[in-house]
Amino acid sequence: MKIICIGRNYAEHAKELGNAVPTEPVFFCKPDSAILPKGNPFYIPDWTDDIHYEVELVLRIDRLGKHITEEFAPRYYGAVGLGIDFTARDVQDELKKKGLPWEKAKGFDGSAVISQEFIPIESLPNDAIAFSLHKNGEQVQSATSADMIFNFNQIVSHVSRYMTLKIGDLIFTGTPSGVGKVSPDDVLTGTLEGKQMFQIKVK
Ligand code: ZN
Repeated sequence: MKIICIGRNYAEHAKELGNAVPTEPVFFCKPDSAILPKGNPFYIPDWTDDIHYEVELVLRIDRLGKHITEEFAPRYYGAVGLGIDFTARDVQDELKKKGLPWEKAKGFDGSAVISQEFIPIESLPNDAIAFSLHKNGEQVQSATSADMIFNFNQIVSHVSRYMTLKIGDLIFTGTPSGVGKVSPDDVLTGTLEGKQMFQIKVK
């Protein structure tokens, strides 16, 4: 399986990092080794001083497809989970400056938190799916899917023009504003439609 991540999909987040709002989806991949095993804490790697959390809605692909039109995109995903796209912001900033790929900053071990549970799309609101992240009990990120620049169907359609989507592939759909640094002993709690989806300890 592969993990595809959409970048700059919320206007306020693009602004907070000084990036232009994109005219088509920006995406990159994480390897499957990036998935943080269930129940494990997140260990800050020794080569970075600036790990940021990014909470994101995650789509699970449940049908094989390529060149999917927006109209038919809903047939290719059936459930939504919640994740964190951990990012080594210091490393990413260096790579961006040099025009180099982001994998070191985005694809390292443990950088993909994915909720165990995925909620069937039909039991979620179809206009605005609410999600949030709390750090040590304090809300740091909160948004709904209505705030996305490119919606689920546009994302699935766009990505599938370049990469065949396979059953079990996951798409991180971008993070809203409020990203920030984590420190040892932080606890990150993700909520989707009021339901706790994960709780991660940082070490
Ligand atoms: Zn992200």
